[in-house]
Amino acid sequence: MSKATTGLEILFHAGGTEAVEEWLGFLRDEGLDFTPVFRETGQGATGARVALVWQPPAGFFEGENRLEVVFNVGAGVDAILAEGGLAPQVTLVRLEDAGMGAKMAEYVIHALAEITRDMGHFRRAQDAAQWSPLAHSYVEDWPVGILGLGVIGSQIAASVAALGYPVQGWSRRQRHLAGVECHAGADGLTRFLARTRVLVNVLPLTPETHQLLTTDLFRQLRPGAHIINIGRGEHLDEAALLACLEDGSLAGATLDVFMDEPLSSDHPFWRHPRVVVTPHISGTTDPRAAMRQIAAKLRAWRAGTPISGIVDRRAGY
Ligand code: NDP
Repeated sequence: MSKATTGLEILFHAGGTEAVEEWLGFLRDEGLDFTPVFRETGQGATGARVALVWQPPAGFFEGENRLEVVFNVGAGVDAILAEGGLAPQVTLVRLEDAGMGAKMAEYVIHALAEITRDMGHFRRAQDAAQWSPLAHSYVEDWPVGILGLGVIGSQIAASVAALGYPVQGWSRRQRHLAGVECHAGADGLTRFLARTRVLVNVLPLTPETHQLLTTDLFRQLRPGAHIINIGRGEHLDEAALLACLEDGSLAGATLDVFMDEPLSSDHPFWRHPRVVVTPHISGTTDPRAAMRQIAAKLRAWRAGTPISGIVDRRAGY
């Protein structure tokens, strides 16, 4: 077992007691010696130097003036930054992968098979007890474009490319990934969209990426394109998506994330024949892997060793 970190108070928020208990157990399994502290409603600051949180409520960090580092138990930091109360000098660290990349690649491959092999056709044929094969589907006819080539997007790109699909990716800075045509910036986006037939969004939510997926963008894709949104609901103009499905500029959408979650029962997405809805499950967090990663980073941080996954607060991810 690795060396223990002694006497450290850690402030926790998980939005549920069960999740916190699980986190505490996994951190102890890692040999971390710490005292958990909690902010009770109406009570003052805890004075903790370290926090480990998921979706803290508004005002959560108020008065926590001794905080030095906050570990976000998720890859996306949009919720924690939207909370607004985190002082600029506090180091914010996000989860890197922790099993999410493989899960999300699996989700995308499943959606791709549904789309490119027209699996809906076979479900309808089975309902009618009809033996109804379709012609061969060529992967070359289905170029996939991935918005976001970070820790998760690059794993999705590699997995999809391994199946033979032509894959392109888009990022803020120019990336170089084997087997992936990489584009960057505004000019790169135009070229990227013109060649994409299945668009996968796995961007972080920032002021630049908010509502990026709208009519203008959809119309730059190859005709009859599909959208797979596994980033954040706020990336997508939901009304524009419905209108583009209606006028035929888009053929279908697989959506895991939504403006308002849980998705209300009267939302048109639920019953739309060309929309697949999943309840924000594409990249479920493996809590054991997450706590292992955080425990290792916490030790490194205490030892003054550089750690990865520090959020660039100006870029917003
Ligand atoms: P990373 O920070 O590793 O990667 C982000 C990628 O997006 C980078 O390639 C970055 O570019 C690119 N990017 C950011 N801003 C822009 C921009 N303005 N223009 C072009 N490209 C941009 O994040 P992860 O891969 O770990 O996670 C990505 C997101 O996936 C999370 O923020 C979260 O929103 C979402 N997510 C969703 C889950 C779900 O269950 N649905 C689960 C986990 C994550 P560059 O390479 O230049 O930095």
